[in-house]
Amino acid sequence: MAVQVTETATTPAVALGPAAALSCRECGQRFPLGPIFACQECFGPLEVAYDLPSGDPESLRKRIEAGPHNIWRYAPLLPVPADVADKPNLNPGFTQLVKADRLAAELGVTGGLYVKDDSGNPTHSFKDRVVAIAVEAARAFGFTTLSCSSTGNLAGAVGAAARRAGLKSCVFIPHDLEAGKVVMAAVYGGDLVGIEGNYDDVNRFCSELIGDPLGEGWGFVNVNLRPYYGEGSKTLAYEICEQLGWQLPDQIVIPIASGSQLTKIDKGFKELIALGLVEDRPYKIFGAQAEGCSPVSAAFKAGHDVVRPQKPNTIAKSLAIGNPADGPYVLDIARRTGGAVEDVDDGQVVDAIKLLARTEGIFAETAGGVTVGVTKKLIEDGLLDPALTTVVLNTGDGLKTLDAVAAGPTATIRPDLDAFRAAGLAG
Ligand SMILES: *Cc1c(COP(=O)(O)O)cnc(C)c1O
Repeated sequence: MAVQVTETATTPAVALGPAAALSCRECGQRFPLGPIFACQECFGPLEVAYDLPSGDPESLRKRIEAGPHNIWRYAPLLPVPADVADKPNLNPGFTQLVKADRLAAELGVTGGLYVKDDSGNPTHSFKDRVVAIAVEAARAFGFTTLSCSSTGNLAGAVGAAARRAGLKSCVFIPHDLEAGKVVMAAVYGGDLVGIEGNYDDVNRFCSELIGDPLGEGWGFVNVNLRPYYGEGSKTLAYEICEQLGWQLPDQIVIPIASGSQLTKIDKGFKELIALGLVEDRPYKIFGAQAEGCSPVSAAFKAGHDVVRPQKPNTIAKSLAIGNPADGPYVLDIARRTGGAVEDVDDGQVVDAIKLLARTEGIFAETAGGVTVGVTKKLIEDGLLDPALTTVVLNTGDGLKTLDAVAAGPTATIRPDLDAFRAAGLAG
């Protein structure tokens, strides 16, 4: 696991476990580990390249299984220092993989349906995974303030992780987010700034801030730390395979905001195959969007390689990125694996939230409604094979998007038995 990068005078020596370098996803050019995110040759996005453990898969599997019940059990495959589990952090991950038999019956899935329920993370969304990795990179590069542009969940995850790690934070969100997201982002006490605009405006603002002295010393988890941040999503792939008994699912349905999560789950599956931890067999990756922000789905259906930006208008605000950075990579993966990208409208999102709650006792945020709704549609359209093992992601908690679902008491009565009898609910 040697770090095979020559250090230059300007490059601080960093030890991030098996991470060997940053490599360009377009031209393959390699750079020393550092807080950079774009290729200096072609401006392509950078990702972490590894010297992954070589040798006996059985001993690696045993080492993982003996690890903590959180994402750090996969530390040998992540860009984090070897003693990461001993540092103060939120310890996210190892969330439930729920065998969803009742939902399967409703959807007509016979090959086994599972919901990976990431609402169980410390700040109730999958974002705790990516932030945990970004925090380690921030520490390694000496940043003292954590920042991000967020569609809501990321702001809360950064605020909480910064507090636990003893860092400062200043996070940026669109001004019109759900109350549950705003409170979660504010309560940890770091600075929270609402920007008058949508997520794409927030993101553009943060890119400017990075280049300005005002943002000096700041680690933006999804901008200048993005290559590290993204790697956190690989843990979803690892956990799903481990929880399936070290097997790949046949099909997986993943929500798309920037598309980062989807591309890194694919990367995680490929690594497990390369390491001999799972049998090499085909899997299909499906992407899910809300119709009101469906630039990747639109490009997929039109057969385009480029994604045309949209102006978002949907209740699935956590997925409302109109100009998704990883869009073209998502298209590649969906096409290469034989999957698809599909979208559902807001009404279908709400119906799917209720369907999942009613059948499995899982209350998803709108993003979970998008994946469940898209799964239903993909089955109806014959694109997803109901006879195969299928995993659907729920990436967030319904308590953060309460306004999306109109649900309330079956009856409101005086506290006496006659009134209850009159309501006609008994028996
Ligand atoms: C951020 C987010 C996603 C997906 O994000 P990507 O940018 O595509 O990685 C999915 N679900 C929820 C709830 C999120 O907050």
